[in-house]
Amino acid sequence: METNLANPSATIHVFEAAGLGKGPFRLNHVTSEGGCCQFCGTNIVFRFYIDGTDSRQFYVGSDCVMKTGDVGLMRVVEMEVKKRTAALKKLRDEERLVELRSHLESPMASESLSKQPHPYAWHARQGKTMKDYAEWIMRHGGNTAKMKLAGSLLPKKVRAKKNTQATA
Ligand SMILES: [Zn+2]
Repeated sequence: METNLANPSATIHVFEAAGLGKGPFRLNHVTSEGGCCQFCGTNIVFRFYIDGTDSRQFYVGSDCVMKTGDVGLMRVVEMEVKKRTAALKKLRDEERLVELRSHLESPMASESLSKQPHPYAWHARQGKTMKDYAEWIMRHGGNTAKMKLAGSLLPKKVRAKKNTQATA
């Protein structure tokens, strides 16, 4: 029986208690496969593949890692979640931008927008339209402005949220 010298009173790691492997545990890699967490069984977005010292590997969701109290593992997983969430958002924004561009290029949208007044009163009084506004945003606006424009012009998307599929 090994003794944890750093903290002899430490309780057994929850992953070890669950029979997933023998600690200490470390993150091997992350995938976006989704599936069910091998610790709690709920649907997960990212699979965090964890290695134990007994060379067994399993995967869990980030939420379960965050509940382990395993500070080292939590720090690595938290960084991965941040990185991947940002990457996903970037990807979604890029897709949205492509949609927005093709929407603005369609003759129907173009006609409809040119009939709506510019959202800013001063420009509207100069005879500028929503089409001018949209064109200005596409040329000079930042990502936030473009996403806001996409939100007001494109049909709303119903996006499946984490864990909602479990009840479907
Ligand atoms: Zn879990």
